[in-house]
Amino acid sequence: MTALAEFTTLRVGGPAERLLRVSSTEELIDTVLAVWADGDEWLVLGGGSNLLVADDGFEGTVIKVETRGIRRLEAAPGRARIRVEAGEDWDALVAHTLEQGWAGLEPLSGIPGSTGASPVQNIGAYGAEVSASLVAIDFLDYDTGERMLLTAVDLELGYRTSALKRGRRGVVLAVEFDLADTGGLSTPIAYPQLATALGVSLGATVPLEDVRNAVLGLRSRKGMVLDPDDPDSVSAGSFFTNPIVPEAETRALPDDAPRWPVDPEPADLVLPLGEVPAPRVLPDPRVKLSAAWLIERAGIGRGFALPGSRAAISSKHTLALTNRGGASAAEIAELARFVQIRVFSEFGVHLEPEPNLVGLSL
Ligand SMILES: Cc1cc2nc3c(=O)[nH]c(=O)nc-3n(C[C@H](O)[C@H](O)[C@H](O)COP(=O)(O)OP(=O)(O)OC[C@H]3O[C@@H](n4cnc5c(N)ncnc54)[C@H](O)[C@@H]3O)c2cc1C
Repeated sequence: MTALAEFTTLRVGGPAERLLRVSSTEELIDTVLAVWADGDEWLVLGGGSNLLVADDGFEGTVIKVETRGIRRLEAAPGRARIRVEAGEDWDALVAHTLEQGWAGLEPLSGIPGSTGASPVQNIGAYGAEVSASLVAIDFLDYDTGERMLLTAVDLELGYRTSALKRGRRGVVLAVEFDLADTGGLSTPIAYPQLATALGVSLGATVPLEDVRNAVLGLRSRKGMVLDPDDPDSVSAGSFFTNPIVPEAETRALPDDAPRWPVDPEPADLVLPLGEVPAPRVLPDPRVKLSAAWLIERAGIGRGFALPGSRAAISSKHTLALTNRGGASAAEIAELARFVQIRVFSEFGVHLEPEPNLVGLSL
């Protein structure tokens, strides 16, 4: 039996009953359909960079997707449309698109994992999300056993979420992207810290390679690039999402708690003269809070560990929980719960874990 710790970036996780590695899309479809027909429990595994697997492991079949291929499709002038097989390494794909002079994915440089997982939590960083470039996915649906194209709209992509993360079961076989064939210039820079690192204003366009280098530099200073020499990168990236809460719930927070409105302004209502508008029920405004700020202000700093535990907060980034060597999944989960409880008791805000939990809950 294979320990799943070998396949996860947190390096925790007990054995899988069965682990199948598949390297062609046809084989992936046949394998998955056979596993579904058996009625076994199943889990799709990409790069294991967004998973916390229990020490007891997984009683069922793990299907590790190792399919490869990037194909250019027909597109409008000035656009590049590509189909990428699910097992392609995400960061290698980003590097490839930049070499071709295609813009869109450059702020997402350095995110570990596979392309097939990119829609699952709508990966994002530095003012960009994959939803801005994703057109559709080639999907094998668990409920029907059918292969189908799901559009970006069908996927209901949101902040670190999608229909797939919320429970629509199946396997992403490939992802289609629409990029801008700019010949080497980036999309407008949309993140203040990235603009500062590049020495440009927000909204500027710069050479694609410059964006990639700046992003990789910023990320490695936070331990957010997988690096065998950096113990802070033995993580699942950010362990908590930034909480999105009704505005009313934030009134008791300290004034200096960072917050950003998340809902667009309601559209203006245009009515023919003389017509009386029906009363409109506007949703409660919601705001996004900084999970890192809440954790730090709850008294949990970088490098924090519970006594005797081999799990610790990264020494570079409060949001990452790391395995300092030989930690168990239970130790990671214990630290995560401690952070949740501290933040909740201090601020009344619940922190949601970002990684997918297998065989345990928080
Ligand atoms: C150092 C570090 C930095 C990170 N930085 C970021 C960041 O900046 N932004 C961000 O959004 N994320 C970040 N992450 C999280 C992670 O890299 C992404 O979520 C990534 O997309 C996970 O890909 P994966 O192939 O490793 O998925 P896995 O961990 O293997 O799987 C994650 C989930 O997706 C499912 N899945 C995987 N492949 C498929 C498929 N083909 N079909 C259906 N379901 C599938 C799995 O079953 C599981 O539920 C970071 C992680 C690390 C370790």
